Amino acid sequence: MSTLNDLILDIRERQRIKPSPSNEPAATWTGKDHHEGGVSDTLTIIFRTAGCWWGNIGGCSMCGYVYDKATTPPNTSDLEEQYERALSRADKLDNFILKIFTSGSFLDEKEISEEARILLLQKMAEDKRIIKVIVETRPVFATKDVLKQCTEILGGKPFEIATGLETSSDNIRARSINKGFTFASFEKAALAAKETGTSVKAYLLLKPPFLSEREAIEDILQTIDDVADKAQTISINLCNVQRGTLVEQLWERDQYRPPWLWSIVEILKKGKEKHPELVITSDPVGAGSKRGPRNCRKCSREIADVIRDFSLTQDTAILSKANCECKGLWKTVLELDDRTFGSPIMD
Ligand code: SF4
Ligand SMILES: [Zn+2]
Repeated sequence: MSTLNDLILDIRERQRIKPSPSNEPAATWTGKDHHEGGVSDTLTIIFRTAGCWWGNIGGCSMCGYVYDKATTPPNTSDLEEQYERALSRADKLDNFILKIFTSGSFLDEKEISEEARILLLQKMAEDKRIIKVIVETRPVFATKDVLKQCTEILGGKPFEIATGLETSSDNIRARSINKGFTFASFEKAALAAKETGTSVKAYLLLKPPFLSEREAIEDILQTIDDVADKAQTISINLCNVQRGTLVEQLWERDQYRPPWLWSIVEILKKGKEKHPELVITSDPVGAGSKRGPRNCRKCSREIADVIRDFSLTQDTAILSKANCECKGLWKTVLELDDRTFGSPIMD
């Protein structure tokens, strides 16, 4: 019997991956984030590495980032060059939060060697404009020893690990996402973070495949409750349809629809009201497009802006003002699509 991972690996093996250089980052951009009650500039770097080891052997059902990997795994000087190229995008910024992704794990030494990690962290420590460093990692690599090393090199500069927990349900993480780690593994990393003065951001995934819209909302609200004492920031990703993924295959067969924007509006409102101490954010990537989260054609862009505004300000009053006639349709979907396991009833 084939497993969910076999199915995903089969899809991955049929993709053509474009050759890509080892000394250029996969992507870099500037933006803004909520930070200590205000708003700060950010610089995001996606390092090109050998790729997420989990994604390389199958991996998560919604993830197309694995195709961003370098053709030849970068060495320390390639990574240093990637870093310098990315930092040149921040020339005009006085100070900023540095967000590091690798489309995998910054703390996995198969992607970024210990030598490269130390060198890069030293550069971040020396750059006075960088006010905080956030690195993305699977929790298993966030051990107490590694986090201690990072915080020591950064010399007191705030340091955060961002982990794609997706949900606190081991069942959904295994059967809908194929994430390959348990909630206990996240809890262990959160404890190591606490012991080393590292903060934690948990990425959650709204509406992985095989869940109805209502189940997806309930899953995220439950997860917020479960991680409230383990993470300081919660960032909710709205599942979109990336190329070369199981989610794409289901979507092509009309067996998957990305979440409604009303669902995230409801989650942000309820989550923040219950946990005012938590920073809860969401960036509705691809909102309004056919592969992205959406409401009706008329309001998707406007509601996406409302979600972004809330993410920066954390002011729930912004969410209460949002309205459109399609809200009634969404409420009907909540009642009906428990019977269709997340396949679209109407679009
Ligand atoms: S979502 Fe993260 S852990 Fe999963 S395959 Fe993609 S990069 Fe790897
Ligand atoms: Zn609408």
